[in-house]
Amino acid sequence: MDSRRRVPRTDTVLADARLATAAETLGRTRVKAVINAAQERARQGEIRPEDVTDAALAALSKGPTSLRSVINATGVVLHTNLGRAALSPAAVDALVSAAGHTDVELDLATGRRARRGRGTLEALAAAVPGAAAVQVVNNGAAALVLAATALAAGREIVVSRGELVEIGDGFRLPDLLSSTGARLREVGTTNRTSLADYAAAVGPGTGFVLKVHPSNFVIRGFTAAVEVAELATLGAPVIVDIGSGLLAADPLLPDEPDATSALRAGAALVTASGDKLLGGPQAGLLLGDAELVERLRRHPLARALRVDKLTLAALEATLRGPHSPTWAALRADPADLRVRVKELCRVLGGTHVLGDSDARVVPSVAVVGGGGAPGLELESWALSLPERLSAPLRAGDPPVVGRVERGRLLLDLRCVPPELDTALACAVRRAATCT
Ligand SMILES: *Cc1c(COP(=O)(O)O)cnc(C)c1O
Repeated sequence: MDSRRRVPRTDTVLADARLATAAETLGRTRVKAVINAAQERARQGEIRPEDVTDAALAALSKGPTSLRSVINATGVVLHTNLGRAALSPAAVDALVSAAGHTDVELDLATGRRARRGRGTLEALAAAVPGAAAVQVVNNGAAALVLAATALAAGREIVVSRGELVEIGDGFRLPDLLSSTGARLREVGTTNRTSLADYAAAVGPGTGFVLKVHPSNFVIRGFTAAVEVAELATLGAPVIVDIGSGLLAADPLLPDEPDATSALRAGAALVTASGDKLLGGPQAGLLLGDAELVERLRRHPLARALRVDKLTLAALEATLRGPHSPTWAALRADPADLRVRVKELCRVLGGTHVLGDSDARVVPSVAVVGGGGAPGLELESWALSLPERLSAPLRAGDPPVVGRVERGRLLLDLRCVPPELDTALACAVRRAATCT
């Protein structure tokens, strides 16, 4: 018989108890769509008609949306393609409880409108006592755009040529800033900029002096840059884009600028991201002078850049913290990582799906990633596997993303929470079995 005619009808598949339950929780539309996709695969001969139900169940098990939760074994702590910071369980709880109706803009005591996200702003202000005022927007780029629009549209932003950063995916800070109607006044050279360079450019047309942290590259050799404290003597407001969201100095990251130090050095305003070293949700932080922050808050554009209640909830939980997974990944002890990799290797060796020399314990170098601390190398350990496992591991459930180095696939454990080791071992075993 024509296999097309043997493909089970949607109602027949939906009669399966597991799919019927799924339809109750996820909605009939979603479950039907998954069944239809499985039926189509059967019509195309990709799967057998009798496997339509299993294929639909497998598709649903991958998660409620097209976004897949993955195991980050790249050794890159803040990987933009993998959603940067993983949220702490406390932040996840906060997200979930804020998902319904909340008092985000209502004072329950008086029944009147209240300042949106006041609890989050209080937590941020408490974390950075040196900031007279704080505000939260959609992301780091939005914080800069708001500052440039409100404080420098039609005027000049004085910035060093060594700090005109491309953030990623082709987006460049100079283009972003120019798009606001502010004019960039570039000073100095790629490798060296002096206080005199800035001084010669600052004048009545200056909106502000901008200092940008080159968060994803380093320039070595014959270099010179000007400290915030010196820029603060020029008479124009100094805005410091620290990028990473480090709120106070961290001995682990000695070269990474932080909000507290920048403000103490005289910055009028600091901008930063919420989902880099701070370890929170995507957000843009604005900290500093009360009058400037109020101007930004009142600017019409602020309404277009505001954050939703989910972000406010997750950010507040991150700030009030237990430590974030980012914090833990940065501080993981290499000796512990080595023990975990050895154990993985032992478990996999016992399965005989991998040859004796296929899985090896190797030293690795992890990095912070585009989120900050360029050039900082974190000693780490990895499970080294044949490169051919790379694609099946990415396609697995859960998907595992490692990094390929000299013809081997390395699964670096620095960013893998220990509780996922068993899931990781199972994923490797499945990938090895199917290749
Ligand atoms: C990451 C970064 C940005 C952009 O922040 P987003 O939160 O990604 O919008 C801007 N400036 C610097 C220095 C950065 O590192």
